[in-house]
Amino acid sequence: MEWKEILIRYGELSTKGRNRHAFTGRLRDNIRYAFADLPKFQIVTERDRMFIRPNDQETMDQLIKRLPSIFGIQSFSPVASCSQDLEDIKQTAIKVIESLDRENKTFKVTVKRSYKPFEMETNELQQYVGSNVLRAFSELQVQMKKPDINLHVEVRREAVYMMAQVIPGAGGLPIGSNGKSLLMLSGGIDSPVAGYQMLKRGVRLDAIHFYSPPYTSERSKEKVMDLAEKLSRFGASVKLHIIPFTAIQEQIQKQIPENVSMTTTRRMMLKIADLVREETGALAIITGESLGQVASQTLESLTAINAVTNTPILRPLISFDKQDIIGIAQEIDTYEVSIRPYEDCCTIFTPASPKTKPKLEKVEYYESFKSFEEMIEEAVSDREIMVFPKKKQQDKFSDLL
Ligand code: ATP
Ligand code: MG
Repeated sequence: MEWKEILIRYGELSTKGRNRHAFTGRLRDNIRYAFADLPKFQIVTERDRMFIRPNDQETMDQLIKRLPSIFGIQSFSPVASCSQDLEDIKQTAIKVIESLDRENKTFKVTVKRSYKPFEMETNELQQYVGSNVLRAFSELQVQMKKPDINLHVEVRREAVYMMAQVIPGAGGLPIGSNGKSLLMLSGGIDSPVAGYQMLKRGVRLDAIHFYSPPYTSERSKEKVMDLAEKLSRFGASVKLHIIPFTAIQEQIQKQIPENVSMTTTRRMMLKIADLVREETGALAIITGESLGQVASQTLESLTAINAVTNTPILRPLISFDKQDIIGIAQEIDTYEVSIRPYEDCCTIFTPASPKTKPKLEKVEYYESFKSFEEMIEEAVSDREIMVFPKKKQQDKFSDLL
């Protein structure tokens, strides 16, 4: 027996009507990008499914292992193939079932006979395969309606194909199928999870980080670079913009009363993020804000912060509980990086008792004493830009970047 190809089901994708081609094309490109390190393989796209045909079993194994992290795939199935010889069919069926968990499982065989000269009728072949499998695995129970294991056997002119396993995919939509947004990435637990949630909905990411040397160390910057790298593992590169924020924070310390300085800090961050967003062609800004988590995340605070722009701000975690966010962070492997104990530029300047209901007019009044515009422009132009992942064959798929 040989694993021959992988059948991919799109799920949500196939409901997208006229956009379908764009979606399937994007998924195909993303698969190529994610597996650029493997020998080249064929991808065939059909209306509601896709086939991947690797040339060797090693590539096949890698695909089966790594496909579950690609967004836009509902489920997939490895497909085996063999000759039309009855003994070969029997052995292949047994090997396919052998690769599955069989304990307390129900079972049936479904035959499709597209090659008419084949020596057995459909029912006959079904009987033949079924009885041989049951003889080999006495723990299986036959059940015609909704069995746990449905062994599909298809007799085609060139070969016989078999498939029994349905492996769940990551769901969501292919990255890039919903444009690009700018993620405000701190070193905390929440913002990487927010980025992940949007990647899953097909949004490509640029990320922006504010840091304040010497108040924040090189280590806290590395932490954010590591987080951007983790996010880039989901199948699309992430460009990270690092903004020197010290001068602005010092000016805020001087100019803005302590109890609303946090609001101004956030407003300046958002203004800068919006300028970078525009420059990079991103459409929206993403944050890790979650309602009520801290003083800056009350509705009143969010409103005062938000007032600096009309750009849509996506807050995918707004209704999430912290425990749920932590759960996702662990799943996507960002948690361990996020809890490294390095200071954040905000925590260092956090006042003892920030206002939970800052008044917009007051904040604007204090900010008007001395314009921040020049400092903002300088921060934007002095930014450092890096792309993750660092060493992939990015040139090969440069249209995806
Ligand atoms: P996180 O865990 O993402 O840091 P948080 O619960 O600590 O979130 P805040 O520190 O109030 O909440 O930050 C709210 C959001 O503002 C963050 O999720 C992030 O999107 C953005 N943000 C905060 N600090 C920075 C920073 N230094 N650079 C870029 N974005 C930031
Ligand atoms: Mg934070």
